[in-house]
Amino acid sequence: MSKKTTFVTQPYLPPLEEFIPYLEEIWQNKWLTNNGQFHQQLEQALCDYLGIKHISLFSNGTLALITALQTNKINGEVITTPFSFVASTHSLWWNGIKPVFCDIEPNTFNIDPDKIESLITPATTAIMPVHVYGNPCNVHKIKEIADTYGLQLIYDACHAFAVEINGESICNWGDLSVLSFHATKVYNTFEGGAIVSHDEKTKKRIDYLKNFGFAGETRVIAPGINAKMNEVQAAFGLLQLKYVDQAIEKRKNIAEMYRENLAGRDGLILLNDFPNVKHNYAYFPVLIRKNEYGKSRDEVYELLKKNNIYSRRYFYPLISQFPVYNSLESASIRNLPVATKIAEQVLCLPIYPELSLSTVEDICSLLNR
Ligand SMILES: *Cc1c(COP(=O)(O)O)cnc(C)c1O
Repeated sequence: MSKKTTFVTQPYLPPLEEFIPYLEEIWQNKWLTNNGQFHQQLEQALCDYLGIKHISLFSNGTLALITALQTNKINGEVITTPFSFVASTHSLWWNGIKPVFCDIEPNTFNIDPDKIESLITPATTAIMPVHVYGNPCNVHKIKEIADTYGLQLIYDACHAFAVEINGESICNWGDLSVLSFHATKVYNTFEGGAIVSHDEKTKKRIDYLKNFGFAGETRVIAPGINAKMNEVQAAFGLLQLKYVDQAIEKRKNIAEMYRENLAGRDGLILLNDFPNVKHNYAYFPVLIRKNEYGKSRDEVYELLKKNNIYSRRYFYPLISQFPVYNSLESASIRNLPVATKIAEQVLCLPIYPELSLSTVEDICSLLNR
């Protein structure tokens, strides 16, 4: 067993020398932020790559989420999932919106559309689902509910860069979709994020809001925020985009190796690939059921750690369990039986482009022991 420490993820960096010319150009132009040339180029390149109409770049995904809710003036109550990264629900809190937690599906870990309707009240204005691990939500059913009740639909697509359903970007679903380009994600700009919108007017409004609400030199149309992506980030994003297909391909090989080695092990449950979906292999979650497997999830987590393998218990605890949210009625574990169980059993195994297949084999033999 190697002594080398393995983390759950590691960013994929392009060759440093390829980044230098971008920096030289920034130094020459002295245009560091505020919709510079690399920012404009990256927006166009991402529209082309993802197959979407409009994108607005942000300094990070959390500010993009907060601004997406501002864009469509969402208030009151929003139905969301407790099984996600805390920033999903925090973005509601920062808008003074009451989060209403909905249970998840046992086979996808995404918000359960069949449980949304009973949570709708006169105060509900929107649904904010998350494509957890980059696996698409049941977008058809969720859209039908949103349309029927006249609710906005804002997707947290922070895990779902480059994911497609039936050959089309997942970000074409919902009123707005939010991406994160944080260092730990499939595609990164160190820190970064974006809102995908579907018409020019909305794109314009988002761009005003991320720049203090300025709609011209002397015109301010709203109390906007400062959430602009700078030129160094945007330039890095352009370079990184050249390597992202290669990065996803390497992730795919690792996911396949895990599957080959772990399928059929009693008490160790893998998520199935989804039909008609192009995956990005952002995460490799497994469920560990102590009764059949012999060890609990936490025991497996510790065993791996002892062998210098740092897996992560994404997502545990549930967002609804944190002190700021746990007194909400919808946070009660009686209302969230599936999410509560999954959070106790789930473990995300290391997956990143430069993770060697021999380390994957080592991890699998530890798990199969
Ligand atoms: C990473 C992430 C965010 C936050 O994005 P940042 O760019 O880190 O601010 C929000 N939601 C989910 C589901 C995430 O994984």
